Amino acid sequence: MSTVTLPIASTVRASLPVLSLPATKTPRGEWWIAPAKWSALGVFLAIPIFSLLWPWLAGRVVWTLIVAAIPLFIVLVGYHRWREICPLAFFAKLAGLLRIPGRYRVPQRSELAYYYVAFVIFFLSLWVRLIATNGDGVALAVFLLSLCLVAMVSGAIYTGKTWCNYFCPLSFIEKIYTEPRGLRATSNSQCTKCTACKKSCPDINEENGYWKEIDARSRRRIYFAFPGLVLGFYFYYFLQAGTWDYYFSGSWTNQPQLWRSAIFPGVNAATAGFFFLPQMPRALASFLTLGSFTLLSCAVFSLLEIAVSRYQRRRDQPSEVASARHIALTLAAFAAFVTFYTFAGAPTLRKLPWVFPHLFLVIVVLTASLGLVRRLKRTQGDFAEEVLGQSILKRWQWADSEPPRDLREAVLIHQLRTQEKSRGALQIVNVYREAVREVLADGFVTREEIGLLEGLRNRLQINDADHESVMLALAEEESALLRNSLQHKPSRNQH
Ligand code: SF4
Repeated sequence: MSTVTLPIASTVRASLPVLSLPATKTPRGEWWIAPAKWSALGVFLAIPIFSLLWPWLAGRVVWTLIVAAIPLFIVLVGYHRWREICPLAFFAKLAGLLRIPGRYRVPQRSELAYYYVAFVIFFLSLWVRLIATNGDGVALAVFLLSLCLVAMVSGAIYTGKTWCNYFCPLSFIEKIYTEPRGLRATSNSQCTKCTACKKSCPDINEENGYWKEIDARSRRRIYFAFPGLVLGFYFYYFLQAGTWDYYFSGSWTNQPQLWRSAIFPGVNAATAGFFFLPQMPRALASFLTLGSFTLLSCAVFSLLEIAVSRYQRRRDQPSEVASARHIALTLAAFAAFVTFYTFAGAPTLRKLPWVFPHLFLVIVVLTASLGLVRRLKRTQGDFAEEVLGQSILKRWQWADSEPPRDLREAVLIHQLRTQEKSRGALQIVNVYREAVREVLADGFVTREEIGLLEGLRNRLQINDADHESVMLALAEEESALLRNSLQHKPSRNQH
């Protein structure tokens, strides 16, 4: 229904605050979340064991299959479902399950700095991949176990989902790919007992958090930097080896003990920093590559945002159009997703029969395009209107009509019916006033006897306040008439 363009919708949209939605009950059909959660935990625990037993295979399985599948999985199942399933979140909750939960909260004034914290951890994780964990099963096992340990310690110090919201290197990525809303609505992932660990908590309402933080400088920088970081990470394989074959063959998944030589000048093809500058230590070369792509990306998307904003100002676009910031964030997310899937998984997918890579690619392209269109069309006004719609639906008061499924339609119906109702109520009060005026004029009842008309008042649903205002209006009318007649009455002296 194209009702959003009606004047009432615009008025509602303009006047609405952004509200938080209360927690929703787990809808039917989500029975699979618990088994998925335990399976994910099982896989996560098995990885370090697998990495120690079959170190030459670990890199390929973890990086080109499991990790490659995670962003697509998050987008397809939705942010809140992923928050329930994520195995690292389990370790962060462990202290709570053991009844020794953390008691501290991250200071509110440094709240928005968490984007930087998570980004730096992620940046360092990618860097460690390029110099150690990519092709070394033992290093990979140590890395994953350290991550679990940090998550557990965080859960033992801080309340709620502090790890998931502030420190987890995936925390901003799962948001980048799913904000402001997923491919379809799901129940939220609010904690059973909220400790208020995060303002505008994304687990309570992801989209509310998105719009509340739309002006946050930290988020803008990190989201703009992310596509560059992803591209820089994959481009380094080329810069290191001088050929794409190094990456796409997957030979990097089996390079044990690379970390031993990473901080020293390169002496052969494997230890070279850059193919054109082999003596540069691999650790430095990879760090510089990641850093420069990150900064470049930040600059490119900042310029893009400025260009979009200027274009919108020139075209004098209406307020319903998405803001330049929202468009730039959306394009950055799309670029990161597409870049990631241009490379991730490819070394192993190429070894499978052709149908699998093609099928996978089709799913990725469809998901990315659908997400892009849904996000670009979304505005803060749409969200506010939906929140109001949900609140109206919860208190649906029009028994003679079914509550509509469309939230915007619910807002419009409610507005129209309320206006009708108030017009109807006004008419009834007018009828009552005329009736009272008539009976007083006819002298059937006196002013003092008006109280006897209580039965009529009840039938017309005239409350005491309306009755008093009618009586006051009639009294004023009467005194005006009296004044008028006294002014126009000829005096005896004149005759
Ligand atoms: S629901 Fe409460 S405790 Fe849980 S993540 Fe959100 S703010 Fe933190």
